[in-house]
Amino acid sequence: MPAQLIDGNLLSQQLRAEVAKRAAALTAQGKQPGLAVILVGDSPASQVYVRNKVKACQDNGLHSVLEKYEASMTEAELLARIDALNSDPKINGILVQLPLPAHIDAHKVIEAIAPEKDVDGFHVSNAGLLMTGQPLFRPCTPYGVMKMLESIDYPVRGANAVVVGASNIVGKPQAMLLLQAGATVTICNSKTRDLGHHTRQADILVVATGKRNIVTADMVKPGAVVIDVGMNRDDNGKLCGDVDFANAKDVAGWITPVPGGVGPMTITMLLVNTIEAAERC
Ligand code: NAP
Repeated sequence: MPAQLIDGNLLSQQLRAEVAKRAAALTAQGKQPGLAVILVGDSPASQVYVRNKVKACQDNGLHSVLEKYEASMTEAELLARIDALNSDPKINGILVQLPLPAHIDAHKVIEAIAPEKDVDGFHVSNAGLLMTGQPLFRPCTPYGVMKMLESIDYPVRGANAVVVGASNIVGKPQAMLLLQAGATVTICNSKTRDLGHHTRQADILVVATGKRNIVTADMVKPGAVVIDVGMNRDDNGKLCGDVDFANAKDVAGWITPVPGGVGPMTITMLLVNTIEAAERC
């Protein structure tokens, strides 16, 4: 029997309706939640991402500010803007779209964001809080994956979870969130020997490598939940994930499509994090 789809668009709609209610309640108290998005340079992909983030804010009752700067902006100028936003009471969340131009130290920039406004959850103090089980912000993509598991009432506690990919923005925080939810977690990276040996043990398999078809049907445990974070282009230029969806769906119990899976959840969780920041004020 083919796997059931976990529809990220549908779940996002439901979660965004809750976001809009919480935003309206805060606005009624004179505390409309606000997100500032900073884009440096003119990468077409980044322009689409920031436009979508700002539109999602506007559609759900959040105040949003898009600050666009030339690629020639200096690091000092960017740090000064972040400093100003850190003390702006109308702004609860600050997001700097990555990647930044090579002359700007992204690490320094992220560390300049006030941790209580770091809605991406990338600041080292937020990474530390997540690691020690007291997260202030959960990074948006892994947070969205946890909501997807919750939406199918999956018993994460005691499950074998395998995360393929160990980046600071997806794989590592994903592993932490799964661990905190009671899963037994394995993290795989590019040096892992016999990836399939690990993935076949997974009741929950989260794949985030940026490598198309890295997980094939024979690497999936029958009945597993397969969550595909990857975003790649196939030979025809169509968006696709890291999992061989066409074949893996006949083995998995649940699976996320690409597009329409984790992608929309990431922006939704950015809105949730901004609301959480505003509610703490
Ligand atoms: P990244 O920083 O490039 O990290 C990729 C990770 O995959 C690394 O840890 C790497 O291992 C691991 N990896 C690479 N080849 C592997 C292999 N053959 N076997 C096992 N692990 C392997 O990428 P990222 O930022 O985490 O993003 C991953 C993918 O998710 C990309 O396609 C990205 O576009 C997508 N993404 C999607 C969303 C969304 O909203 N849907 C959000 C964020 C990212 P090493 O550590 O050994 O190098």
